[in-house]
Amino acid sequence: MHPSEDLKFKGQRRLLTESLAQKHPFSQAVLKAIEQVPRHLFVEKELWHLAYRDKPLNIGSGQTISQPYTVAMQTHLLEVEKRDKVLEIGTGCGYQAAILMAMGLYVYSIERIRSLYIQAQKNLHTTGFDASNIIFGDGFAGLPQFAPFQGILVACGAPEVPEKLKEQLAIGGKMVVPVGRNMQRMLRITRTGEDTYSTEDFGFYQFVPMLEGTDK
Ligand code: SAH
Repeated sequence: MHPSEDLKFKGQRRLLTESLAQKHPFSQAVLKAIEQVPRHLFVEKELWHLAYRDKPLNIGSGQTISQPYTVAMQTHLLEVEKRDKVLEIGTGCGYQAAILMAMGLYVYSIERIRSLYIQAQKNLHTTGFDASNIIFGDGFAGLPQFAPFQGILVACGAPEVPEKLKEQLAIGGKMVVPVGRNMQRMLRITRTGEDTYSTEDFGFYQFVPMLEGTDK
């Protein structure tokens, strides 16, 4: 890429970050990651000029990358700290995973569409992030072999709170999950004890659906 183009996107990223900070008191760690990760490199070149608007973008296979405000909100609500182990469901293009990695977290991420899983790995390589813990599979099962997680971020709309994922939270850990069929409510489930959970509701959002099984 031409250096001046790189500089242009950097400027756009700064403006996006500033506008997000005005909309909500996001943590500094979240804002820093948004300012750092080149969102345009996770979408097709034809969409680069839209990459730093606060809008969802198509990533192929009928899926979308959430708008930056939603990415920032879900990440903020996780309330995780550097070096925590987290799980994302719905890797998509890999942008949300890159945001979590930029915050110094150990990130596992599962995607059920093979072409997106492959594309996400490429995107993460291109942008200098580690793609080794991106996994092809069904997120409803989670990753019990790597549990417990301090945070679980579900990037697709779940019909109900996925039970198996709740069980993979560390005690004190939080799952941020949009729940509902047409519209979703952003829920945060905190595991308060071995068998106890608390739920908070952060209002309406719209996501692509969380589907069972994998595409091949
Ligand atoms: N976080 C993504 C946004 C992806 S959109 C990004 O930054 O680009 C939601 C994704 O969830 C889609 O790619 C969809 O295929 C995936 N998905 C839906 N149901 C799933 C499931 N059961 N397991 C894993 N991924 C799932």
